[in-house]
Amino acid sequence: MSGEVITRYANRAGAVVELHTARFMTTWTRSGPPYAANKPYEVDGYNWRCLGCKRYGRQGETYYDPGFVDRRKAENDAQGHADDCSALPPEPEPPQKQEEQRRRGLTAWVTSLVTTEERR
Ligand SMILES: [Zn+2]
Repeated sequence: MSGEVITRYANRAGAVVELHTARFMTTWTRSGPPYAANKPYEVDGYNWRCLGCKRYGRQGETYYDPGFVDRRKAENDAQGHADDCSALPPEPEPPQKQEEQRRRGLTAWVTSLVTTEERR
């Protein structure tokens, strides 16, 4: 559902609010509400998600459009959320886990070197 990140905003506690492209189903015509389409159809648009509080800009149940067609509206909404939200960024992974991942990565790298070496 979510695509490429276009802009990143910082909320009041430094967590990131990402504005990204999104494809979603809409029930409105190109003119927007109150002009309902005969059939729901898929459009290219935008949405945002907050990595602090995990909220999304628009979701299917709250709105008829689970995303924004208008980029400027999406930007304003994302900026508005960033200004209001004070959820902290996610906790960094504990150092042991990072160390473990580093070690695993190093092992894979050495293994690939050895394998390449053996092939020659
Ligand atoms: Zn938030």
